[in-house]
Amino acid sequence: MKKDAVVVCDACHSREARVFKTTIIGGQARSVRLCEGCCANTLSPTEVDQIAAIEAASCRYCGGPYVTKVPGLSGMSMGGEDPEFVCGKCIAETARFFKQRFDEIRASGSKDEQRAALQKLEEEAALHMKRWISEGN
Ligand SMILES: [Zn+2]
Ligand SMILES: [Zn+2]
Repeated sequence: MKKDAVVVCDACHSREARVFKTTIIGGQARSVRLCEGCCANTLSPTEVDQIAAIEAASCRYCGGPYVTKVPGLSGMSMGGEDPEFVCGKCIAETARFFKQRFDEIRASGSKDEQRAALQKLEEEAALHMKRWISEGN
């Protein structure tokens, strides 16, 4: 694994890829690698800015690189929150946590209690992620 292989552009398959773009396709974080020429040809200035922002950002949970911009926590429609940067690893754990808590909440309490619990879920998830990271994940 010590070989310094050149990453080739996904578009032209000839030049070296220097721009890494992460997008969410069908709920999966996908990385697209482009050379500077193809990047300039295929992306609008807004997209180039977004790539720069993504490259400069780090995961809100673990501080790691390779982040994906998600619309609110774990892509859920919790209202018009600002997009957040989360790495693929933390997205997976957040999604797992949400699903587990959803099932627990749905199986217990009255409608009002469930609604109250769901409103606290985002906060709970943030705490869970902090704990999860501190456990060395
Ligand atoms: Zn290219
Ligand atoms: Zn992370």
